[in-house]
Formats: sequence, structure tokens, C-alpha cells
Amino acid sequence: MRAHLVQVRICSEDALKQIKNEYQQFVNDKSEIQSSIKHITKKVDNVKFNNLSEYLSDHYTQVDKPKLYKCTLCDVYTSNTLKGMAAHKRGCKKKHPEPNLSF
Ligand SMILES: [Zn+2]
Repeated sequence: MRAHLVQVRICSEDALKQIKNEYQQFVNDKSEIQSSIKHITKKVDNVKFNNLSEYLSDHYTQVDKPKLYKCTLCDVYTSNTLKGMAAHKRGCKKKHPEPNLSF
């Protein structure tokens, strides 16, 4: 039987310390980016045009809401993204097969 060679890499104390510092930096940067995203999301949520919204709502219904797509198969499910609708339709097709129009 052939003996298997086991290669062991030994990390020097210095290299280990550098890896640890690099990893620590990554963790700190990640945390900073996450809190920046939270801050920006909050700022975006605060962007509102109350007067414009009020004025337009007198003329149009649901003008301040994202566009809603309704499933044409079940006529129940709604999504405000085409991507969400496509994902729903994959499952919905099995429950509500489209009528076969070929004779
Ligand atoms: Zn559906």
C-alpha cells in the first residue's frame, strides 16, 4: 500500500497575525457598510412629496403606491414586481392550467 504524504503548512506567527488583522478589518468594514445601508434606507423612506401626493390623489387612485400586477391565471395573487409574478406563475400554472385553445 502506498503511503500518503500529508503536507502540513505551518503559518508563521507574523503571517497569522496579518491574517487576523486582515480578517478583523473585513469584519469592521462589513459592519460599517451594513449600518450605512440601514442609514440610507431610512433616508430613502423619509423622501416624501406629501403635497404632490395629496394633489395627485384627488385626480388618480393609488398614485403613490407601487404598480401592482395581478396573476392572470388565478386572478387572486398580486405582486409589485414582474420577477415576483413570474415566480408565482411557475407554481400557479400547475394549479390553474391555461385553457388549451387548440382544437
Ligand atoms: Zn396565480
